[in-house]
Amino acid sequence: MLTQSLLFPHISTGDMLREHIRAGDPVGLKVRDLLKAGQLVSDDLVDQMVAERITRPDCHAGFILDGYPRTLPQAESVTSLLSAHGFTAVVVYLKVDEEKLVKRLTNRRQCPQCGTLYNVLLKPPIVPGRCDVEGSRLTTREDDREEVIRQRFESFERQTRPVLDFFGQRTKFLEVAASDSSPEQILHQIEAFLATPEAA
Ligand SMILES: [Zn+2]
Repeated sequence: MLTQSLLFPHISTGDMLREHIRAGDPVGLKVRDLLKAGQLVSDDLVDQMVAERITRPDCHAGFILDGYPRTLPQAESVTSLLSAHGFTAVVVYLKVDEEKLVKRLTNRRQCPQCGTLYNVLLKPPIVPGRCDVEGSRLTTREDDREEVIRQRFESFERQTRPVLDFFGQRTKFLEVAASDSSPEQILHQIEAFLATPEAA
């Protein structure tokens, strides 16, 4: 929705990493083991992936980074990367209750073919278990299993919480209480923030 609203490409580091896993290349093999264990991928690897991605033509006016930066070194790296390319960051933090996240993520399914996300309860596909786009069989992501999700919360507290402080102090920063909001409501809050002088 944000992609359609801003007309910026959506850059999901998670999707890029899963792309490597599917390709079975050396990066993919390394990443698969880390994700299985609920661990985060090395900063250098993700930084390089993003640095390459944002030089492509579709990013010239701006882009949406999703799932990145997740660590303080990544936050520092992307800050210098953005200023080197003349971009200013707006950081949006969607804050959601942990138990609600567990419920959402364990009900999440993804199309291995086109990447479309579904939710068994909230956003089911038209045909159960099949992608609306091209009919592929939907899968549960390895990192959406409950025990892995709990490990991701721990990683978040340890590695990502400091990123919020980092950006909260020096960047245009919006925190959205997103536990009970619809995607449309969250979109409107982000759009409203982007329209304010402090986000210009
Ligand atoms: Zn699909």
